[in-house]
Amino acid sequence: MGKGDEGRAIGIDLGTTYSCVAVWREQHGRVDVIHNEQGNKITPSYVAFTDDHRLIGDAAKNQAALNPENTIFDVKRLMGRNYSNPIIKNDMKLWPFKVTAGANDKPMIVVKYKGKQLHLYAEEISSMVLSKMLEIAEAYLESAVKNAVITVPAYFSDSQRKATIDAGVIAGLNVMQIINEHTAAAIAYGLDKRSTNCKEKRNIFIFDLGGGTFDVCLLTIQGKEFKVKATAGNTHLGGEDFDNRMVNYFVEEFRRKSKLDISGNPKALRRLRSACERAKRALSWSSCTTVEVDGLFQSTDFCSSITRARFEELNMDMFRECIETVDRCLNDAKMDRSKVHDVVLVGGSSRIPKVQELLEEFFKGKNLCKSINPDEAVAYGAAVQAALLSGGGMKNVPNLVVSEVTPLSLGIFTVGGIMSVVIPRNTTIPVKKTKAYCTNEDNQPNVLIDVYEGERARASDNNLLGSFTISGIPPAPRGSQSLDVSFAIDANGILTVSAEMKSAGSKNDKKRLSTKEIKKLIREAENFRAEDEKFLRKANLMNALEDYIYKMKNALKNDCYVNPKLCSEEKKKISSEITRATNLLDVCNNQPHVLEELADYMKELDSLFELFQRMHCRQD
Ligand code: AMP
Repeated sequence: MGKGDEGRAIGIDLGTTYSCVAVWREQHGRVDVIHNEQGNKITPSYVAFTDDHRLIGDAAKNQAALNPENTIFDVKRLMGRNYSNPIIKNDMKLWPFKVTAGANDKPMIVVKYKGKQLHLYAEEISSMVLSKMLEIAEAYLESAVKNAVITVPAYFSDSQRKATIDAGVIAGLNVMQIINEHTAAAIAYGLDKRSTNCKEKRNIFIFDLGGGTFDVCLLTIQGKEFKVKATAGNTHLGGEDFDNRMVNYFVEEFRRKSKLDISGNPKALRRLRSACERAKRALSWSSCTTVEVDGLFQSTDFCSSITRARFEELNMDMFRECIETVDRCLNDAKMDRSKVHDVVLVGGSSRIPKVQELLEEFFKGKNLCKSINPDEAVAYGAAVQAALLSGGGMKNVPNLVVSEVTPLSLGIFTVGGIMSVVIPRNTTIPVKKTKAYCTNEDNQPNVLIDVYEGERARASDNNLLGSFTISGIPPAPRGSQSLDVSFAIDANGILTVSAEMKSAGSKNDKKRLSTKEIKKLIREAENFRAEDEKFLRKANLMNALEDYIYKMKNALKNDCYVNPKLCSEEKKKISSEITRATNLLDVCNNQPHVLEELADYMKELDSLFELFQRMHCRQD
């Protein structure tokens, strides 16, 4: 594959459990979903910290059981959320890593790295996963990549979307657009259909049940137009929740059988969770499976089994919630279920048979479309959108126009604590709307504007996005001064609020990282990158040194391989070099900061090379 500008805009599906990256190949007129260095097209959204290095992706996940406190996953659940959010409190009980409250109630992840404690924002961890995906794409394309479209669940709030953009910026990416996962999946499905199908209007229902989030969406595809009609979902429902139920079930069983409680032990929980996730996947194909963990806790083994029926019973309330959400979405779109042409399954958890059965039942026996790969569809669609946004630079890009809607109603707190909706949910974006409000006290000098998102009538039951104050209002009787409040939502689904009177302002979003903080985090990300490079350099040098010791030792052991022309002085020199190199290797293993010493020594070895060459030429 040639170097150059081709494919410089990528699509990234930043998932709760796995991430995936894809690119539009203009040469071939198709999307390539890119495999990582392990040959997998999906990469675990895991980051781990050890005494001497940082790991991302498969390498991080593979060592999770040995280093549970410093192996971070599920971070998408923390993005844009407050520490005091009950959902976070609940998750924390099952996470083996530590999360504490930072400034403005932002959750901070606590890890030990190189012997020091670090406090990291969720955005920082996500940026590390993003930079891994970027690295995978750059290795494949053999060229630098700067631009990306990143997907988020449709039900991600304003602050969660901003947190995702911030993570992209920290990873050094230019985030061209944030698009909804289900829209990306619809693009993938729609293109697949368009190649084989005619141009009549089709109503497509996307059912996307992933690792941590659940999204549904109804959209119509006609010709080149992809129009989202309605969305619904839950940013906190997915495979991880099903795993949690099974973990709790077996924690209880272990307590009953062995009188041991593992609930406070991160390592044991981590190992049990991995076994449960495997069992859950197995139950999608078989009706019963075993769960075995050797030496789970205090050298006691755990071995049990679970049937598909029991698994379904444990999760039935959540499965039913999924179907209720489907119903709500169709109601919002004012569409009868019989008018839906295709029901498309996306997300790993959509493979669960009971979920499929309930969905088929709801759609009165309609066959579900499983033609697109649920793990890859989202990144595929994001790559197409990235190519479309690249404008004239890209050739052969399919001609399509995507229009999105806002998933939640947006409004402000008004008299009596009522939520006054300015933009109702499922309004097509981008959009700008203005509403007039009056002062409600005589001679009122200031107005506080609290911006909320959600569907509850009482403002405080919804999610507070931010506040700002309009001051300097001239004295006047109550109700006589009016104030225009404008809400604008851009193509990323991000909101800007302004109010017009004497002064105007932007929503003061305390939850978002400030520009100064982002700059600091970019610097820190560069430090992490530099440290990773240093680690790799040291690891390569150590491998070379180990290889050298091995060869020299073997050569000396077996005299026939040693050049008989070597004098005893030279042999002595080789032996002493072996001792020196072995000592240095020991030092390297125990001390992380010996890179320069090692590099110098390796240079010295170059000068001894001639001697070793002579040693190896036995026939000379
Ligand atoms: P995604 O976020 O779309 O990558 O989905 C990941 C989730 O799908 C994880 O919770 C996986 O455990 C789950 N998953 C993947 N394959 C299966 C399967 N065959 N049966 C049940 N769940 C699965």
